[in-house]
Amino acid sequence: MHHNKLLHRIKDSASMKLNDTVKIFEKNGKNIINLTIGQPDLDLELEIKEKLIQAVKMSYSHYTNKQGVVKLREKILEWNEIDNKYDISNVIVTPGAKYAIYTLLKSILNHGDEVIIFKPYWVSYIDMVNLCGGKPIIVECNDDFTINFDDLKKKINSRTKAMIINNPNNPSGNILSIEDMVKLNKICIDSNLYLISDEIYSTIVFSKFKSFLQLEGKRSSHIIAINGVSKSIACTGLRIGYIIADKDVVSNFLKVHQHIATCAGSLEQKALSLISKEQYAIIHNKHKQIYKKRRNLIVNRINGKSKIHIPEGTFYMLLNIGDEFNSSLEFSNYLINNYGIALVPGEAYGIDNWVRISFATSEEKLRNFIEIINGENLLCVK
Ligand code: PLP
Repeated sequence: MHHNKLLHRIKDSASMKLNDTVKIFEKNGKNIINLTIGQPDLDLELEIKEKLIQAVKMSYSHYTNKQGVVKLREKILEWNEIDNKYDISNVIVTPGAKYAIYTLLKSILNHGDEVIIFKPYWVSYIDMVNLCGGKPIIVECNDDFTINFDDLKKKINSRTKAMIINNPNNPSGNILSIEDMVKLNKICIDSNLYLISDEIYSTIVFSKFKSFLQLEGKRSSHIIAINGVSKSIACTGLRIGYIIADKDVVSNFLKVHQHIATCAGSLEQKALSLISKEQYAIIHNKHKQIYKKRRNLIVNRINGKSKIHIPEGTFYMLLNIGDEFNSSLEFSNYLINNYGIALVPGEAYGIDNWVRISFATSEEKLRNFIEIINGENLLCVK
């Protein structure tokens, strides 16, 4: 049997390989400080549990409107504080943000269209573009992981169709400055590109954050925002994401969506639609404070021998591999084999001098990690 040739473009990710190693260690009874996890460790909040039960009691188990439950779309506009520029016809509820990005790419890309992806990148972007027959074009970053606009300008040509921006960024934790957002917006208008803004970490922010949807001025038809509840309220398994975009984008997205997912899960949609704007804010603010405390714990306790990049958002932080290792994979393997610490090699994000720490894990584990790292000379950055 012959499979889809596009699958040849999908590479096994370094983080997957590392996860396999973690599993083997754990199976052999070794205690691993696993800081690779990309999902909140926090429990489902009581209010959400109650709303889910309420949705079950309402027997809300049938297909919904393909665009999503109206009340939830209204809530989504309120969460994003953009209701004067967009209305519910601009919103589609999806089974997760990942699905939203893939279906969007499916609906906008023709074979060979180029899509700009910025380093450090979330690895799925590359594979999604490849699977949709597009060509990922990688733009370098500056030393502080901000956008290298000189490189960006060199990479745009007549085949470029879109750019994908992740703000706040996984893995660097950077938040785009307003100046950079304005510049990116102008480049997309001038070159007629879609600006796809993945804002899945938009509520986990420790300094000022603005969505592309909230930029001053009149609404831009090329801006497409993606978001969801996986990270904001620790509901990765509910599989609820959404897209907010111009009506043309929405109608083309729905052409694909209706034949693939039909709609997002009805119980989850109903439950979330029953949560007030205030309740939603209380939950994500509570979670943000937890992540902030953990971030500060690492930043304040890790000693000067280790070079870290302090995040402005997300629950990730980058740690430099220092001078003694040739690659992030070599460094990760060293840490797991000698100290039982699992971190994702930066190679997975296009930055081979760094590894990613996830602090979506207990303070106790983070304290153990810091203790080990602080006692270790190999992280010395000259
Ligand atoms: N976008 C980024 C940058 C992510 O890191 C992740 C998950 O790790 C997602 C999207 C996926 O979100 P969802 O769970 O809503 O599909």
